Amino acid sequence: MFPLQIRVVDKIDLSVKWDDGSESVIKLNKLRRFCPCATCLSELEKQSKTYIPIFSLDQVSVKEINTVGNYGLMITWQDGHKTGIYEFPFIRMLAGN
Ligand SMILES: [Zn+2]
Repeated sequence: MFPLQIRVVDKIDLSVKWDDGSESVIKLNKLRRFCPCATCLSELEKQSKTYIPIFSLDQVSVKEINTVGNYGLMITWQDGHKTGIYEFPFIRMLAGN
């Protein structure tokens, strides 16, 4: 599983086309909410199920995306946050495929 093409669509979705021909589309605010870095994970644990986070535009705008080894993506957000490594299976899980 490896991304062939990664795009931000209409500033709200991340689209990843995989080498098996499938595509994952995830809302950027969902991607940010489930940032897998230690800081965000501990924040997420404190939130109740009904809590809806409100992000600033900078927090849900992608500045840069880099692949990490052959297993994940590092997303740099406009607010400078970039400590989360999104492993490929995790991206597919968030997209629901
Ligand atoms: Zn984070």
